[in-house]
Amino acid sequence: MSAHAWLSKTLHDRTVLCQACAHACKLGEGEYGICGVRRVEGGELKLLVYERAAAVNIDPVEKKPMFHFLPDTQVFSLGTVGCNFTCEFCQNYNISQYPQEHQHRIVGQDLPVKRIVELARENGCDSIAYTYNEPIVFFEYTYDTAKLAHEHGLKNIYVTSGYETRKALDLLAPYIDGMNIDIKSFSDTFYQETCGARLKPVLEAVKYAHQKGIWIEITTLLISGKNDSDEEIRSIANFIAKLDTAIPWHLSAFHPTYKMLDTPRTPASTLQRAYKIGKEAGLKYLYVGNIDDEDRESTYCPACGKRVIDRHGHIGQFVTNTLNKNGECPHCGNTIEGVWR
Ligand code: SF4
Repeated sequence: MSAHAWLSKTLHDRTVLCQACAHACKLGEGEYGICGVRRVEGGELKLLVYERAAAVNIDPVEKKPMFHFLPDTQVFSLGTVGCNFTCEFCQNYNISQYPQEHQHRIVGQDLPVKRIVELARENGCDSIAYTYNEPIVFFEYTYDTAKLAHEHGLKNIYVTSGYETRKALDLLAPYIDGMNIDIKSFSDTFYQETCGARLKPVLEAVKYAHQKGIWIEITTLLISGKNDSDEEIRSIANFIAKLDTAIPWHLSAFHPTYKMLDTPRTPASTLQRAYKIGKEAGLKYLYVGNIDDEDRESTYCPACGKRVIDRHGHIGQFVTNTLNKNGECPHCGNTIEGVWR
């Protein structure tokens, strides 16, 4: 079903400005936004995927990845079709690029806001994640769900490429408790050529979400020869460290997919190198992903150096959290930053 995409504004020339993401699409009657799921109909912007989910799963929260957010709990995860990015390495391109590649067709199952919250509770989830495709493109669906989820004691997570406008973040901040934001590169050229977006709005969204008090974790998918030079990794690390050395940084290995089938898998040595650069930049919490490396997937207390959250096996399979409910280290009492209850 479709609903009024109210995060928008009608302009003097009767076009409609979408205010959800940094693309700032200005649309005339019948036109679709870049994301393919917001369209002007009858003079007003519509969200075509409202209560229409294309992917639904119950995942360990570690899979988002969120490592400092209610560890060892389940998260009700949903996404729709459509995306405001066109990443050539997208792992969910079958839904994210669906409308763009199928003459604007919208697919998905009816999933009312109320039912999402019911299902999350019935299945023992502690939170709801808006994930798989870019959640800001279905902003109004996420907003209504997140608000109702809070009323029922559930937390909310955005897994995002970080293209939210300030206005969107202002509206989301009371209800979104955690965000995992991609910094896909530190090169504007990479963003333009490989993702159909720009770097600057992403960095601005990261800073603003942090300023708004939302718990954030950053993910960078490292791709050989594309974004894995020491210099580029260091630039991202320094950017995060300047903002807050307690922001966890997930360094993830690329697997060939979508339009990058000829690019090799990222070797473990690249992730280890990036991990070291992150440490040198002063970041307290670094993690590798998409490879098996128990030591670099676990959390260590920055004060005493002891392992305080152990993670091994498949992501989220075996998680042993020794922190108390305030996130304090059982060995030295130091507080580990995160959302623990
Ligand atoms: S959410 Fe979609 S319609 Fe709105 S500005 Fe972004 S790409 Fe354009």
